[in-house]
Amino acid sequence: MQLYNNLSAKERAELIEQAGKERLTISFYKYAKINNTEIFRNHLFIAWDALDVLGRIYVATEGINAQLSVPAENFNAFKAHLDTISFLENVRLNIAIEHDNFAFLKLKVKVRKKIVADGLNDQSFDVTNKGVHVNAEKFNELIEDPNTVLVDMRNHYESEIGHFKNAITPDVDTFRESLDLIEEDLRAHKEDKKLVMYCTGGIRCEKASAYYKHKGFKNVFQLEGGIINYVRQIEAQGLENKFLGKNFVFDQRRSERISDDVIAHCHQCGEPADLHTNCANEACHLLFIQCDSCKEKMENCCSTNCMEINRLPHEEQKALRKGQGNSNDIFKKGRADHLPYKKDLRNIFETLKTDKV
Ligand SMILES: [Zn+2]
Ligand SMILES: [Zn+2]
Repeated sequence: MQLYNNLSAKERAELIEQAGKERLTISFYKYAKINNTEIFRNHLFIAWDALDVLGRIYVATEGINAQLSVPAENFNAFKAHLDTISFLENVRLNIAIEHDNFAFLKLKVKVRKKIVADGLNDQSFDVTNKGVHVNAEKFNELIEDPNTVLVDMRNHYESEIGHFKNAITPDVDTFRESLDLIEEDLRAHKEDKKLVMYCTGGIRCEKASAYYKHKGFKNVFQLEGGIINYVRQIEAQGLENKFLGKNFVFDQRRSERISDDVIAHCHQCGEPADLHTNCANEACHLLFIQCDSCKEKMENCCSTNCMEINRLPHEEQKALRKGQGNSNDIFKKGRADHLPYKKDLRNIFETLKTDKV
């Protein structure tokens, strides 16, 4: 019997037992036709609020995408509620390996146009004609195949701190850019190469694989359940881990360590480091990588300018911000020009490409 998240009832019970009074951090998604998103949204909010679920859930006519935490003692009730919704019955739940009771602080269920901002015109291709789903064991085999091109479907700041060995990690800020870049570079190999892709929890690959098939790629594979589910499987089945570094996650934890390798560098001094932080200056909040000693020296700021602002009394900072929009740096995610050691991923992409293709 196929159990959700590849966990047996016994393993699941152990997990809940271990967690005790703690919360479990869970993510899942499902593409499904939802007609009345507003009613569905309200239904979820009422049921999950009663179970003390916290998190960020997107509902759209194309499906649901949820990142949340639930008290371990309410997990079975939560699961039972999911099973009452026809398209969520036995949905695969990705349960985080590291637990943090503060991963989410509120329950937010939002109606969106799409569950992932993929920038795609879905009418132009068949989104149900997806790539072949592979489990961790098969994935490990596939990525050793010399005919395989392994592509990381995440953004640059995610792959910077961790990715699979030999993966192409496009230097992109959005999923849409990534799709085009990869298609362009692999144009000549649509039929002879195996295109193998992965992302955090699998959701981005659902669309990407269908898109590439539509574009003429013949051999398209995707890691089922993404990195999160891969890690569970290698642990449960004693498989070799081929993921280096940390998995970037979209909650307060920021990342989960998968291997001891530190593959990134502090954006300020260049020393090995792989911890993302947001600049302490409220008006900046730039996401970047900072080592412990720079953190101390720079008072958790991205620049001396931000450090000076951050030292001002709260009221003065507020007055300074007045009338000014957020700094563009927020969206640069580690690419702000003043960071001397920001990673140049473009070069890595080029190297790998000549290497692999
Ligand atoms: Zn540093
Ligand atoms: Zn800053």
